[in-house]
Amino acid sequence: MAKKATGMTSSITRRWLRGGLLITMVLVILAEALFLYSTYEDLYGGVQQAILSRFSTIEGQLRATGSAGEASEVSASRSQALRRTVEQFDEKDKFEFMLLDPSGAVLTTASGTFSQELMAGTDVYEAMTGASGSGISTFRTSGGERVMAITVLVPYAADGITAMRLVTSLTLVDRQMMQFTLISVGIAAVVLGVALWSGLFFIRSIVLPLGRVEALATRIAAGDLTVRLPDNRYNDEIGRLCATINQMAGALAETERMKNDFISSVSHELRTPLTSIKGWVETITARGGGDPEIARRGMAIISAETDRLYAMVEDLLDFSRLQNGVKLDCQVLDLVAEATDAALFVEPRMQKENLRLIYEEPPEPYPVWADPARLRQVFVNILDNAIKYSRPGGSVTLLLSRTASTVTAAVRDEGKGIAPEDLDKVRLKFFKGKNAVRGSGIGLAVVDEIVTALGGTLDIQSTLGEGTTVSVTLPVYHAGQEHLHDPLELPGQPAPGSTPNS
Ligand code: ADP
Repeated sequence: MAKKATGMTSSITRRWLRGGLLITMVLVILAEALFLYSTYEDLYGGVQQAILSRFSTIEGQLRATGSAGEASEVSASRSQALRRTVEQFDEKDKFEFMLLDPSGAVLTTASGTFSQELMAGTDVYEAMTGASGSGISTFRTSGGERVMAITVLVPYAADGITAMRLVTSLTLVDRQMMQFTLISVGIAAVVLGVALWSGLFFIRSIVLPLGRVEALATRIAAGDLTVRLPDNRYNDEIGRLCATINQMAGALAETERMKNDFISSVSHELRTPLTSIKGWVETITARGGGDPEIARRGMAIISAETDRLYAMVEDLLDFSRLQNGVKLDCQVLDLVAEATDAALFVEPRMQKENLRLIYEEPPEPYPVWADPARLRQVFVNILDNAIKYSRPGGSVTLLLSRTASTVTAAVRDEGKGIAPEDLDKVRLKFFKGKNAVRGSGIGLAVVDEIVTALGGTLDIQSTLGEGTTVSVTLPVYHAGQEHLHDPLELPGQPAPGSTPNS
């Protein structure tokens, strides 16, 4: 069981990890990459811009220098101006400014010193050979410092000076980039951590209770109907699921109990008439041949006991019908004729029990679409209950009535009545009321099932101590109804011999 719960835990968690968390992770990494890329562009692009803007300032000054006069003079004065600019360059702390000859050799530097390590990088070569006239490179000096160098060709002839080169350290920018990287990676890690923690917390709040529910439900499924889930611990869908499973287990336990009661009461009741029959058969065999009176009494009792056995076997059949669903073979019937038959059938028994049957046969037929055998069963079960629960001397009324669309057969007795708390349950299978005299508790369940299958309704009204009225209402038959409520098509009830034959 524990293993199963773990399996479910891991699978829901895994689904979430694969779905929710993976997407969050991809998004965070994408945002991180985008942020770092744009920061990089900003920082290093900024340095590049700073260098280029200095170049354009110098170029502007050069253009102004010697715009008139002999070309060689102009070239010489530009060269001088350039050298002066380098010497007087006031940002020496930030940049190293160099002037280069056509071979790329350094003519002069702003710092006044020449360091070969600053000459690494491809920018000079790029500027001298490329079509754009400029080159840029970042490289690490032999001292380990990262630098950016940009070389541009001097756009005007300047007496031996071919190119200007600015080199600047990237240490500060690198440090800034590193800081941004660390901070943003930290933020991303925190975001992912929070997403993971909150997700796992949420998942655990579902998976753990579900695991418990599953473990207990497995015990219920294995037949332990006494276990109950803690339905008040969770005030949500899981709580409601627990309550529903508990209800289901309760209903199963109740049905199980009633079924066991039914089987034990039927087996018990079967034994009594059998004992009696066996006793009388032995008596008649031993002595009955010489005494016709004993034989007659014995036969009468055997007959009565056989009737009891017959009724019990009918109950058992009803029970199996209830288990397998009611099968119907419908045709157009006259409810009046069926009721009259039933009344004639129960009358002798009622007389024997000192009961009066009040029945007035309506003059016109009440056509219904029903199975004659099942309709007879409905009448017999209801009338049987009325007789069973009546007091001697009482009366039972069978009243037929109709409206434009329905016909109703009501059986009213003046017997014990049903306790209000039992009234809702008497139509449940195996339910026997507090007042129950004998029977297995399935009579009304069968009636309810048949009446529902016929598209009708069963109504039970009762006042304890005063009497009970059980009414069956069916739709009036009209042509075409066969297809309307073909009761044979109830779920799970294949009914091969049930084609309507009106
Ligand atoms: P059974 O087949 O044992 O008679 P039913 O399903 O017909 O069972 O009835 C269920 C219970 O309903 C009975 O045990 C009885 O308590 C109550 N009941 C049914 N009909 C009547 C009635 N006419 N008067 C009083 N109680 C009744």
